[in-house]
Amino acid sequence: MIPSVLPTYARAPFAFERGEGSWLETTDGRHFLDLGAGIAVTTLGHAHPALVEALTEQAQKLWHVSNLYEIPGQQVLADKLVEATFADTVFFTNSGTEALELAVKMVRKYWYEKGQPERIEIVTFSGSFHGRSTAAIAAAGSEKMVQGFGPLMPGFTHVAFGDHEALRAAITGKTAAVLIEPVQGEGGIRPVPDQCLKGLRDLCDETGALLVLDEVQCGMGRTGRLFAHEWAGIEPDIMMVAKGIGGGFPLGAVLATEAAAAGMTLGTHGSTYGGNPLGCAVGAKVMEIVTAPGFLEAVNRKAAALRQRLEGLVAVHPEVFEEVRGQGLMLGLKCRLPNTDVVRAGYDQHILTVPAADNVVRILPALNIDDDDITEAIERLDAAASAVKGPDA
Ligand SMILES: *Cc1c(COP(=O)(O)O)cnc(C)c1O
Repeated sequence: MIPSVLPTYARAPFAFERGEGSWLETTDGRHFLDLGAGIAVTTLGHAHPALVEALTEQAQKLWHVSNLYEIPGQQVLADKLVEATFADTVFFTNSGTEALELAVKMVRKYWYEKGQPERIEIVTFSGSFHGRSTAAIAAAGSEKMVQGFGPLMPGFTHVAFGDHEALRAAITGKTAAVLIEPVQGEGGIRPVPDQCLKGLRDLCDETGALLVLDEVQCGMGRTGRLFAHEWAGIEPDIMMVAKGIGGGFPLGAVLATEAAAAGMTLGTHGSTYGGNPLGCAVGAKVMEIVTAPGFLEAVNRKAAALRQRLEGLVAVHPEVFEEVRGQGLMLGLKCRLPNTDVVRAGYDQHILTVPAADNVVRILPALNIDDDDITEAIERLDAAASAVKGPDA
């Protein structure tokens, strides 16, 4: 008999009741160190007092009114995002997938309004992930995600990650945009090198194609800059944000330049819940904290310490781990043994990590993880690695 919760997830056999900082407590009282942050979502840890306060304060006043009316909290968050980034304008969503949907509509409308409606193709990359809607699975194109769900939405051209020649060849007179994650998350923590992002920006400038960055996982301070593309010194035309921006409250956004957003006029897009007062109250507080002086410096310091110690772990367990990859606190352990075995061995040590493609274990702690918890994390990962390779190794 089918379970009452549609069984699309292979869930770990425990449930959490409460959390504080980087720690979670199960319903039966066990404490887990959280290096997954709900897949890069709880940026500031669990139950951050300032976020709890922002949410409860708003909850006592107003939950929902609809975008038929002005929403002052939305204005506050949009202004913060515009001030801190390349963007001139922001549309709020509830998820990364919805951000992808708008990004696709925006690039198509851009070319339609320019009198080139034939420019509808969006170039994307192997190993990418942009969500689970019909457009998002067509965009990523992986066999595993699309099988059985055809016909797929047309208009996506897939290029092998890192194949510069194929990328150049894929951009034609029908190309509307290039869509890329500056650091692939689900694909296995694969950063796009800075010089490649720069080259991609140049290629887009040459051909007119819009550059759309999916920073749903790598954005909001995760890599040690507010947005990952800042490391390369480039700016996109459109950017998708979600996950970390809500610190655990469902919130996403599409950021765009005035030019890229020009086609999105009155009535061309909407959302019932997008930009609701609750999400925006939390999002504004997350932005305030992540952009406060010293916060990202601390992320980079913690990231350097964690990375160095993960390198040490790889050196001690070469049978288990191949390398550390990633940037900032978006790190991956490329495994030699099955990554899911490593994640499961972590559960036995009461530490949470997240598997990704390419046999990688993702390490995505809260950005404010403290130094003692980093030490604790390495000890637990060390014990998990010892357990997974067995007593004979
Ligand atoms: C998680 C993710 C998405 C989808 O976000 P949802 O909030 O799950 O819809 C899109 N792009 C990237 C890079 C992601 O990591």
